Amino acid sequence: MTTQLQVAVRKIFSVNPATGEVLRELECVGESEVRAVVARAQAAQQAWAAIGVRRRIAVLREFQRKLQKKKSEIALAITLEAGKPVAEALTTEVLVVLDAARFLIEHAYRLLRDEALPHGNLATKLKKGRILRDPYGVIGIISPWNYPFSIPATETLAALVAGNAVVLKPSEFTSLVGLELKSLLLEAGVPPDIFQVVVGEGATGAALIHAPIDKLVFTGSVGTGKRIAAAAAERLLPVVLELGGKDPMLVLDDADVDVASSAAVWGAFVNAGQTCLSVERCYVQRTLYEPFLKACVEKTKKLRVGGGIDRETDVGPMIHERQLQIVEAHVDDAVARGARVLAGGSRLSERGPNFYQPTVLADVTHEMRIMREETFGPVLPVTAFDSDDEAVRLANDSEFGLAACICTRDDVRGERLARSIQAGTVMINDVVSCFGISEAPHGGFKSSGVGRAHGRFGLEEMVRMKYLDTDLMPSMKKVWWYGYGATFTRQMEGLLDMQFARGWRARLRGALRGVGAIAGKKL
Ligand code: NAD
Repeated sequence: MTTQLQVAVRKIFSVNPATGEVLRELECVGESEVRAVVARAQAAQQAWAAIGVRRRIAVLREFQRKLQKKKSEIALAITLEAGKPVAEALTTEVLVVLDAARFLIEHAYRLLRDEALPHGNLATKLKKGRILRDPYGVIGIISPWNYPFSIPATETLAALVAGNAVVLKPSEFTSLVGLELKSLLLEAGVPPDIFQVVVGEGATGAALIHAPIDKLVFTGSVGTGKRIAAAAAERLLPVVLELGGKDPMLVLDDADVDVASSAAVWGAFVNAGQTCLSVERCYVQRTLYEPFLKACVEKTKKLRVGGGIDRETDVGPMIHERQLQIVEAHVDDAVARGARVLAGGSRLSERGPNFYQPTVLADVTHEMRIMREETFGPVLPVTAFDSDDEAVRLANDSEFGLAACICTRDDVRGERLARSIQAGTVMINDVVSCFGISEAPHGGFKSSGVGRAHGRFGLEEMVRMKYLDTDLMPSMKKVWWYGYGATFTRQMEGLLDMQFARGWRARLRGALRGVGAIAGKKL
């Protein structure tokens, strides 16, 4: 008698965070189906690699064309599921992806082709060296909800153009956007088994790590990143980890207060503060502290909070109640320890389920959670500093190291400070926008991650590097092969001196001894 095991299929709900309305119910993909998806990807990948970079670039061009045509439709889908204003969906998502495609269309052929590797060592001059870049095979991508289109799409385009198949596990909060990406790619000519989406929660992501993928690109929180790194280590699965941030902004005493305050307000509240590169800590030189706070408060109070569909909205809802509770806990803790609330500071329940007022806090300290943990909400905590050294020390006093910003009119001073800051990116006089610079590597120091996305270095993450060495004198035995003895040792000393001794006389003497090795060695 066989026992039928009834496994209940888990459901997830795609919800509009502005209204709480359920957009769609979806079934989580289970472990065996994830394995089947990866097996299909494996079976299809070699043919995709075999068509060559130029044909894959043509597919990217088609994808770019389709995305440009459907820009408003895609932006709307992003707004419905992630809450951000349509304007932000267009700029921080659709535009970023169009430009990432542009970068790969222009540069992928050059960056992926075989690269000659000349040798400097005289002993290896008679060899031709080349770097080859092979696709990994199947790349698993696990992505978050905060940039549900631009994050998986930029990573996917790089993986695909390099000849990989991709299996994407989008965030359970933004599965529909992941499925929109799939439709666009398939319409552009990507074969169905080369880009597949497995929707589900963490368990589906965990199943993907345990399936026979060849590399994982994960973007999400530090906590999940650590769990993923541990699981990947069990089978030495290579991983890229793009994790959380607690980005500092330094406003130096020569900064333009109007410009710096506008940067801080946008940097803290774009996407309702739910950006890995958000301004999460703001340090202002004491002489500018009060005028800067005044300008930030004035600008923050003018922000229009509402549903992202409304074209006049500046700040949309947060993604869900749990994220809102973290923000409340951080603000409450800061206030209890002496921070002043200058704007906002509470929910906006009359707008809908997940709205929080853009909030400015003054006089924060590093004893407060708001300055140590990732808040990921619309809060701008500000404090004063007295010297450049103190500003750098405060900026670096963090577990995180994703990015940082320095506002100054003095480029030399800004660059000096930037070099001392422990972060994957430092922007002088701008915030957040580095994510949209397709050439710029994106990734963190410290707990903010491992590896890079975007640009040349993001593309390099999608290939295994292979060194191909061809000897140009195949009929000649090499001088370093067996035949050791006193003569050999002398000859080797000669060769070493010829290349590395100080002074031309010593080198010449070495050369004369070394030539003996090449000419006289027999085995
Ligand atoms: P999260 O870590 O909760 O989830 C990210 C993804 O991991 C989701 O798809 C989730 O389903 C999946 N997941 C959860 N548990 C898993 C497990 N055990 N195994 C495999 N997959 C699992 O993060 P989130 O809340 O979706 O996103 C917000 C976080 O992402 C913030 O910390 C933010 O800073 C970070 N982030 C970083 C970057 C960057 O580029 N560095 C960009 C965007 C967001």
